[in-house]
Parts: sequence; structure tokens; C-alpha cells
Amino acid sequence: MDLARKNPKPLIRTLFLLALAALPPTFQLPRCPAQAAPTPQPQGILDRLDAMMGIGKGAWTPEQLDAMERLRDAAMKDPYALTELRHLTDNIGPRLSGSPQAQQAVEYVAAEMRSLGAKVTLEKAMVPHWVRGAETAELIRWPGQAPGTTQKIVLTALGPSVATPAEGLTAELLVVDDWRQFRALPPGAAKGKVLLFDRGFDKELAAEGRGGAAYGGAVVYRSIGPSAGAAAGAVAVLVRSVGGADYRLPHTGQTDYTDGVPKIPAAAVAAEDADLLKNLASQGPVTLHLTLTPQTFPNAVSYNVIADWTGTEHPEQIVIVSGHLDSWDLGTGAIDDGAGVAVSMQVLHLLHDLGLHPRRTVRFIAWMSEEEGSEGATAYMEDHKSEIDSHVAAIECDLGADHPTGIYYSGKPAVGNWLRPVAGILDTIGAQSLIAAPETGADIDGLTQKGVPSFAPVQDSRTYFNYHHSAADTFDKVDPHHLNENAAVMAVLAYALADSTEPVPR
Ligand SMILES: [Zn+2]
Repeated sequence: MDLARKNPKPLIRTLFLLALAALPPTFQLPRCPAQAAPTPQPQGILDRLDAMMGIGKGAWTPEQLDAMERLRDAAMKDPYALTELRHLTDNIGPRLSGSPQAQQAVEYVAAEMRSLGAKVTLEKAMVPHWVRGAETAELIRWPGQAPGTTQKIVLTALGPSVATPAEGLTAELLVVDDWRQFRALPPGAAKGKVLLFDRGFDKELAAEGRGGAAYGGAVVYRSIGPSAGAAAGAVAVLVRSVGGADYRLPHTGQTDYTDGVPKIPAAAVAAEDADLLKNLASQGPVTLHLTLTPQTFPNAVSYNVIADWTGTEHPEQIVIVSGHLDSWDLGTGAIDDGAGVAVSMQVLHLLHDLGLHPRRTVRFIAWMSEEEGSEGATAYMEDHKSEIDSHVAAIECDLGADHPTGIYYSGKPAVGNWLRPVAGILDTIGAQSLIAAPETGADIDGLTQKGVPSFAPVQDSRTYFNYHHSAADTFDKVDPHHLNENAAVMAVLAYALADSTEPVPR
């Protein structure tokens, strides 16, 4: 069948275009003056180039984009976030759920937000109240032992570990590298033993900037290892610390006891001690004496601190900006997550100082008990379940305080394109990338699951897990310049979400 004959027009057009392509590049078709193409407007071309450069206006007016620039620049200069972080960490200290320091932090942050003129409420949450006790371990028998000696093992209890008997427990050690080895153990092999899960933290992955992936690969052993060991008859479980440093620091964190199996003592050993235990156990029997004396009290009353910067046009529409106020107890909770709280406080502080009142409500939240089960976030979802639809967006900063390279977003793919002008504002601080992510923060995950677009700064995670949940999570680990960059991302993003002409796509 001859298609060209049946419909000759396409063939003629093709021949014409081929002939045109064969002409020298300087050739121009003669134009009838009446049909001359309009002269391109220089302004139109610049608008198109604007879009290419990520500075298109999108959902914002030039005045709003200008306000974002002012927020960014103010965040880079203003010492407020650093000052607040220093108070939370140095003055108040570790803020374990249910502790007097956590309560002090709640009252302090509430007062600070109130002093800015925000509408502050404390929303109750029942939180775990676990208190660390003594935590020691020593080898009492191992191959090559000098007579009459013991050898110290550096470890720390996992929350909410149960205690050993006060005088400690003594048992033989069994080491497995990973889940497959554990599942391949002969029946009864772990019975009466102290079981060590020696799954390492992948430092090379973290060095590539994929700290979250390195953490995710190892943390599951901390979460389920103790109950798995109990199910196999172990008397206690040790896990290799989930962290990347080399200074013999144990990293604590939450374990999730499973219903239906006994709760057994659970601790994380320093990476160096895990290596030593594995080496000695490969040579012959190793016997360990372990003493952990933590206490678990009834759940305590605590609070999420909520501070609303009320919207001028749609006060009922909410953009959350947040971090979690509780921390582990070994360090002072600077990178996890005093920094996230401080940069979120800075958002309201800058709105106050610059006299900015976005059309939607910017809701600061300092979440309680993220570390021990996200009880604050759970209470929020329950208390606000009838208002989830009016949550326009949620931001959480909980991956430290190192240099941000952009914004993670969870939601429709269109959100990325929508945010491009915002990325254009953040370009000068190197935070222009927009990355789709399935989750953005533990405390806002309930909102994410309900379809609320959610966001987090993309933070450099190369060294975060060296300090995370260890005694070295202290104020000095936070670089003031990087902290301000994170504050800039939070402030610009929160303002953009709260003041856009149309809400973020959902
Ligand atoms: Zn955290």
C-alpha cells in the first residue's frame, strides 16, 4: 500500500523539510511583510532562561521571593539558632524522655516561643520513663588469658533494656555475623549464652555520603536482635554499635522488645570490642560477666511543644516546621536532635524579626520521645486526626547539622518542579538539589503516610553516625556556619510553603 499516494501531504512536507535542510545555514525564507514573525521579546527569552536557572517565579510573587532571600540571608548571620542549641545542650543537657531535663527543655522552648509572640500550647503525650544504671562487662575466661586477670568490654545499655541481676550474670559468648548465621544456628546453640550480633556499620557507604543507608543496614539488629536472641534462648544480647567512629565509643539506641518472648538485657558494644570478642570466640570458649542496672518506671506525662505563627489568610492551614526535643542520655543531644529544634525555633524567630506573616499558619513543633518510640508524634496524630486535611505540609530536621545540599520531598512528583524557584533561592548556599524520598522524618511520618507533602533538609551524613547516640553527641560537633545553612533551608522552605499563592501539590 502506498501511504504517500493515499495522503500525499505528509510526503510533500517531508520533501520540503529535506530541501530546506540542504540549504546553506545563512539561507532565509523570503517573508511576506504582512506575515512576518513577531520579533522575539527579550523579556520573554529572559523569563525562559529564568526557569532554566531555577529562578522562575512559580507559585510566588517577586516580593515573596525577595522575602525568601531576606530570610536566607538573615539565617546565615543570626546567632539565634546556635545560642538556643548551646542552651539546650550545655545548660539543660541530655533530654531523655520522662527525665527532669526533658521537662525543663519543654518549659524553656515554650517560653522562648512565647516571647516571640507565637501562640504556644503544650500537648500531652505519655512517654517511656527509662533510666540508665550501671553498665559494665568484663571477660572472665578466654583463650590465652593471663591467670587471674579480667578484660574490660566497653558497652552501653540499649533503651529500654531490662536489668541483669544486681550482681550481674555470667555466661558463655556466642557470636554471629548476621541474620543468616543466626538462623543457621543448630537448635539450642544460643541457649544460656550471651549472643553478640556483629553486623558492622558500613563506613565506606557513610563516607560516600550515604550515612542513612549505612545506618539502615545495621540498625535492624539493634531493633530486633534482643528479642530474636531471647526467642533462641539467650540470656542477654549484645549488638555491635551502629555507628562509624574509631574511638571505642558505644552507641545506644532503642531496641524493640517483641511481645511473647522474655525481655532479656540488651547492650551495644563498641565496634573495637565487637572485633575483640569475635576474634577471641573464634579461638575457643569466652565467658563474660555482664552487669546492667537500668530501671523502667511507669510511663510519664510529657509534652510536644507547639507554637503557632498564625496565618493571615488561612490560619486553619498548617505548615509544620519541627525537630525532636528528646535525646539519648550519653551525650547532650546536639546533633540528635537539638540542632533540629534550634533551626526550627529560628524559623519563627526570623519571621518575627523580619515582620513576616505568611498567609498560612507556620506551626513549630518540638516533638517528644522520638528516640523511644515517637510517642509525641503518635499523640499528635491522635489529637489532630480530624484536621489532617488542613495540614498543608510538614518539615522535620533530624539528620544532624552538617552542610545541607538541598531538600528531600515526599509526595507527588509535581512537588519537585513546584519547588524549583525555592531551590533557586537556596542555590547560593549550595542547597539547591531537590530529591524525592519515601520518608522525610520519623515524627512527621504519620502525616506523610496520610498524604501530607513532607520535607527535610538533605544533610551531609558522612560523619553524623560517628557521634549519633554516643557520648560524643555534644555541642562542639555542630559547625555554626552549617547550622545556619540548615536554618536558612528551614526558614525559606517554611515561608515558601506557608505563603504560596496555591498550596503545594498534593
Ligand atoms: Zn533524631
